[in-house]
Amino acid sequence: MLDLSLTAEQQGQLAEWHAFAEEVIRPVAAEHDRDESTPMEVLEEASRRGLYSLDSWAAGLEDPTGLHWLLANEELFWGCAGIALQLTVSGLALAGLSAAGTPEQLMQCAPECFGSPSDIKLGALAVTEPTGGSDVASLTTTARRDGSDWVLDGHKMFIGNGGIADVHVVVAAVDPDLGHRGQASFVVPKGTAGLVPVRRLSKLGLRAAYTGEFRLESCRIPADHLLGGQDKLDERLDPAGHDEDISGSTTLKALERSRPVVAAQAIGVARAAYEYALAYACERRTFGHPLLEHPPIAELLADMAMDIDAARLLAWRAAWMGATDRDYQAAEGSMSKLKASEMATRVTEKAVQILGGHGYLADHPVEKWYRDAKVFDIYEGTSQIQRMVIARSLPEAESPLPLRRAEFEEGLGCRRGRGGRARFASRWTVPAWSCFTSRRS
Ligand SMILES: Cc1cc2nc3c(=O)[nH]c(=O)nc-3n(C[C@H](O)[C@H](O)[C@H](O)COP(=O)(O)OP(=O)(O)OC[C@H]3O[C@@H](n4cnc5c(N)ncnc54)[C@H](O)[C@@H]3O)c2cc1C
Repeated sequence: MLDLSLTAEQQGQLAEWHAFAEEVIRPVAAEHDRDESTPMEVLEEASRRGLYSLDSWAAGLEDPTGLHWLLANEELFWGCAGIALQLTVSGLALAGLSAAGTPEQLMQCAPECFGSPSDIKLGALAVTEPTGGSDVASLTTTARRDGSDWVLDGHKMFIGNGGIADVHVVVAAVDPDLGHRGQASFVVPKGTAGLVPVRRLSKLGLRAAYTGEFRLESCRIPADHLLGGQDKLDERLDPAGHDEDISGSTTLKALERSRPVVAAQAIGVARAAYEYALAYACERRTFGHPLLEHPPIAELLADMAMDIDAARLLAWRAAWMGATDRDYQAAEGSMSKLKASEMATRVTEKAVQILGGHGYLADHPVEKWYRDAKVFDIYEGTSQIQRMVIARSLPEAESPLPLRRAEFEEGLGCRRGRGGRARFASRWTVPAWSCFTSRRS
């Protein structure tokens, strides 16, 4: 039976995250955005409340509905996307650790990603390089074995907590010719010789979150910092090995599972902008009436509300599929991320429009939400890459497409309607459609 209502426990958690976003995050959001400063006091308070902790992260893994992280991310990003990213980016390092590491490595490194209220720790997942983030099979950072150590050389950019993290999970090429299969993940602790911070990157949005660039210059780490261990790496590098399950479908599935979480982040920002614009439209009067009574403004708000709900439904479906271990046959994770990202860009732009000139000023938060929203089209896989993933999952036609228009129309039983417009005969559309749906189920 389909049931989209939240359990009492989920409602309680939602209220807790919302209160944290409203009482702790929002009051300092403008200041950290303006100063581009890291909100350490927010991390400390989140740590005191158990929201920035290993337990909170692990609760997401155990949630049978898959909604835990979505609910948390939507509320935190509703508070402020930059601060929320700073609160959640250590989770990316943990995701890298749990995807590639042994249980022992995870247990050893995971507490180092959060620390305690009096000693906050940070994690980083470093994949992207200055030369490219979309083409992750072509990483140029290398790792070579030297006696009982690994030596890493390369350059990483756009990394949350990059260069300042206590735990850097670094993806590097052991055999660059093998693409994904020749890559491995390594733990590089803070203070390791050869881990050279370059700079904090100054950004359009998410300005409270630390995003950094660092170099690895003959950076030497012990052999046991290779995540998963040497045997697993040898298995991947073995040309006779069946690499597909390790480097192909498993990785893609992990990505599909993480994408609805990013969708929830975008939904949080969009919801903040929509709520603010709605309240403004109720109060602001022009031509003797509240803005909301002018149909063009009411229609903008109606579209915003509908867009947000549609994106949330796609995200919840994708999260539910991940939690129930269903196959993402139609790239439902990518669909949810793409829909929510583009929705957030649209909705925040409409919010600025509804506030008119005031929306363009830093006096109101909508200009910040507009700047923040753009990142969702870019990080964790750009919109172009999501479309490529979705396109690849489209069901193939039963037979090759006819090459000429006439054959196409004849083959599909096409006939001309009035005005010369082509119409398909229903005897063709019905079987064609049922074939399409049966291939998906
Ligand atoms: C705020 C922020 C935080 C980030 N945090 C992290 C992090 O913590 N860790 C991390 O590893 N990375 C992080 N990233 C990096 C992010 O994932 C990359 O920026 C993203 O994957 C895109 O890579 P790129 O910037 O190198 O763009 P490129 O790969 O150079 O792409 C440039 C443009 O070309 C398009 N394009 C590329 N290839 C194709 C193609 N084949 N067909 C059509 N279009 C194509 C892209 O869609 C994009 O529009 C972060 C980025 C930002 C902005």
